[in-house]
Parts: sequence; C-alpha cells; structure tokens
Amino acid sequence: MTSGTGSGTGDGAIRTGTGTGGPGTGAGGPGGTGPERRLFDVREIYAEPAAAASPRGRQVLDRFPDAKVIAVPSHWQIPHLHGNEGNVARWARVKSEVVVLGVKKSLTTRPNGRSADWIAPSSANGCALACAYCYVPRRKGYANPVTVFTNIDKIVAHLGRHVARQGPKTEPNSCDPVSWVYDIGENNDCSVDALICDNTADLIRAFRHWPTAKASFATKWVNRELLALDPRGRTRIRFSLMPPADARLLDIRTSPVPERLAAAGDFLAAGYEVHFNFSPVVLREGWEHDWADLLRRMDDTLPGAVKAQAAAEIIMLTHNRELHDVNLGWHPRAEDVLWRPGLQEAKRSQNGAWNVRYRTGLKGAAVRTLRGLVERHAPWLRIRYAF
Ligand code: SF4
Repeated sequence: MTSGTGSGTGDGAIRTGTGTGGPGTGAGGPGGTGPERRLFDVREIYAEPAAAASPRGRQVLDRFPDAKVIAVPSHWQIPHLHGNEGNVARWARVKSEVVVLGVKKSLTTRPNGRSADWIAPSSANGCALACAYCYVPRRKGYANPVTVFTNIDKIVAHLGRHVARQGPKTEPNSCDPVSWVYDIGENNDCSVDALICDNTADLIRAFRHWPTAKASFATKWVNRELLALDPRGRTRIRFSLMPPADARLLDIRTSPVPERLAAAGDFLAAGYEVHFNFSPVVLREGWEHDWADLLRRMDDTLPGAVKAQAAAEIIMLTHNRELHDVNLGWHPRAEDVLWRPGLQEAKRSQNGAWNVRYRTGLKGAAVRTLRGLVERHAPWLRIRYAF
C-alpha cells in the first residue's frame, strides 16, 4: 500500500485504510450491505492519487473494501475505460463494477434558466443507471461509470460564495418565484451518488442554510435513505417520469416508474419540494395514449399535498449519432424508438456537437398535445417549461 500521493501513474494500490465511511446516507458502510447492492458490485476503482487520499475518497474506498484500486493521472484519461471500444458490450456491467475518483479542477456555476437558474459545479459525472438516451456519456465514448469528485468541500464553498453574491431573488421566474434554483445533478443522478458517498448529503445540508437558494436534481432512482436528510424545503427533487412501457425499454437499471410515483408523498413529508420531469418525451406509435394513462395514474394516486405544490418540465427527446452507434452495441432495441430519421432533424448544440431532435413542426405539435393531456388529466400540474 502506498500513501496515495504518488505520481499517479502505474497500477498501484493506493488505499490508505484510514477512512471511516462516515455518517450520512451511505450504503451501509464497509462491506456494502445496503441498497447499493442492487446497483453496485464494485471491482475496480480508478483514482487520482489526491482524490483517493482525501476524506471523501477514503470514504468511497472504505465503502468498497474489496475493490482493486488503480492510480490514474486524470479521471478524464483512462484509456482502459473510455478508449476501449470493447467496453460497449459491457456498458451496464462497467457501471456496476467500476467507480472513478477525481478532483474537480474548475469550479464554475453556469446560468441556465430552464430546469434551474444556475447549473452548479458537478459533484459527480457519470451514472450507475443506464438510460439509453442519456447525454452524459457524450464526452466519454465507450463507458460511463460514476466519477465521484472528492473535493466536495470546495464545491460547497464555491456555491456558498455564489449564493451570497446573488442576494435575494427579486423577480419571480419559471424556475422558482422566490429562490435561486441550483441544479446539482446535471451530469449524474444524485440519488445514486448517495449510495456511494456523502456528496449529495453534503449539498442538501448546505442548502438548508441558504434561505435565498434551493438545490434541485432530477432522479430516476428512489433512494429512501435521502428521507433522513432533513432538507427543510431547500431541495427540490424532480422525479423523472415517462410511460412505464417506455421506461422498461429505455430506463435501464432505474427504479420502476410506479415506485418513483409512490415515493413522491414520502419525499414531500420528509421536507423536499417534489416536482416532476417529463423527460425525454419519445414519439412513437401510441405515445399520446400512454402519456394520458400516466397522467391519469398521477391524478389517481398522488396525495393532495404533492399535487398542491407540484410542477413539471417537458423535454422532448434529443439524440445524437455517436450515442446511437454506442447503443447499437449494447441495446439496439432502444434505437428502434430513439433513432427515427424520418421524424428528426440535425441541430448544433450549445457545445458545438450535432444532435438530432424532432422536426420543428412535429415537435411543437407534440408539445401542444402533451400540454393538452396535462390540462385534461392532471389540471393541477403546472408546466414550468416545455421544449
Ligand atoms: S439517471 Fe440520468 S444520468 Fe443516470 S443514466 Fe439516466 S439520464 Fe443518465
């Protein structure tokens, strides 16, 4: 064993063996006896030495004590993972068996205006779930396991300064009438990350103390350990929903849609604001019928208190050629509904990549249709935005 402060190259074991696992939402501590067992069977941890040596890194290493730890110079440059085309066939298995530890180098908060006012610096990148449409792998190529950023103290401090600089929100907007909303899960699922370490818990606890701000994240995993975190209304959880038939095909490894719906009341009672994320909306034969069913189910089953504060966003599917090619290697049936050249057109995204989305006229008509279904079947549900 080395101290974790080496050159960052080679294949050394860099456990320090001094971590405690810590309190919080974690996964049942060393040995992994908690709910993470449904998602994780971690065999390899690729770690920047500084990340492995940090308190958060040690917590992750202690959580998966049997994993082999491999030192890497950068969490972005792991040829065995990201450059290995052979990993496509193991797409979901890599998510179960691999975790990466890195230090987030640049901490920036970006304006957004849709799901949130601001996008917070990521506390993780990658996901153990395997939604076929997920855009997070776009920079990683052939594998997209969770990378935990271990410098969470710096991320929280950065956010605290950013919140302080904004002062109170003086103009209501579609994100929130009174609070600045920070999306803390742009490239990850915070409910899943909470199975690995306390990054999500640290963020939720921090936002408790910032009365002008609110954390927000979308999720497809019901992690009931989050119920213990006492967010005091300063965290908005957005359960992502789509018709169960679509989710069974596309939302691989996620909590079933009925389980997400059933959790909404408990999360509200535990102090979360509970919204919904209709994303992505996938156009295929019969989509209107199945969305109407889902909305009726929401109307029938959600508690009145959830309905009274709920809102939703509607996001139509965006896809791209590279992800299409990767998906053909591990889940080609998903591409029957995701890759529809007859319905889609190319569009250059903000980061310069070419994506495909539904053709302009078709997309607008579909958004109007879904808005109409909401008005008819779940009229209590405010749509924050749709695009
Ligand atoms: S839950 Fe979110 S981050 Fe995870 S695979 Fe699905 S879309 Fe990607």
